[in-house]
Amino acid sequence: MADRTCRLVIYADPDTEATVMSMKIRCIHSKAGCKWSDQLKQLQSHLVTCRYDAVPCTNNCPAMLAKIALDDHLTYTCPRRKETCEFCSREFTGEMLEGHLGSCQFEPVFCEEKCGATLQRRFLSNHLLNECSKRRVACKYCSREFVYETLTVSTHKNNH
Ligand SMILES: [Zn+2]
Ligand SMILES: [Zn+2]
Ligand SMILES: [Zn+2]
Ligand SMILES: [Zn+2]
Ligand SMILES: [Zn+2]
Repeated sequence: MADRTCRLVIYADPDTEATVMSMKIRCIHSKAGCKWSDQLKQLQSHLVTCRYDAVPCTNNCPAMLAKIALDDHLTYTCPRRKETCEFCSREFTGEMLEGHLGSCQFEPVFCEEKCGATLQRRFLSNHLLNECSKRRVACKYCSREFVYETLTVSTHKNNH
């Protein structure tokens, strides 16, 4: 016998209820592609396993997703997913990683002065100060500032 104590009573008339509950219906996610079809009273138990039914993200982000989309969400779009920074190999959540890229000290970046050099961000300030061919240096003869490569290749020095 069915356990009536924990079932929602939708219809006061038990006969009507029994009729409705035995009606053949399609899954509420049939539009999304679910092929399931059975008696209405079976729907609750079907939804537990239906791949199209929405479930909360198992990483506890606010998203609700069809089970069929959960794997993709957990791998690619969940803000709480675990991701490893490809440059420094530290582990971040998805949303943290988005902020981290752009400041990762191991990420290769182009020199801000557009000298053509690519180097890890942690070396950039030293490069700008001591190595960059576009850095500005003071001429040791007249103390005026020049772009380093101009100073070395031009005839400025010979004008003194
Ligand atoms: Zn279904
Ligand atoms: Zn999520
Ligand atoms: Zn990093
Ligand atoms: Zn440079
Ligand atoms: Zn000079």
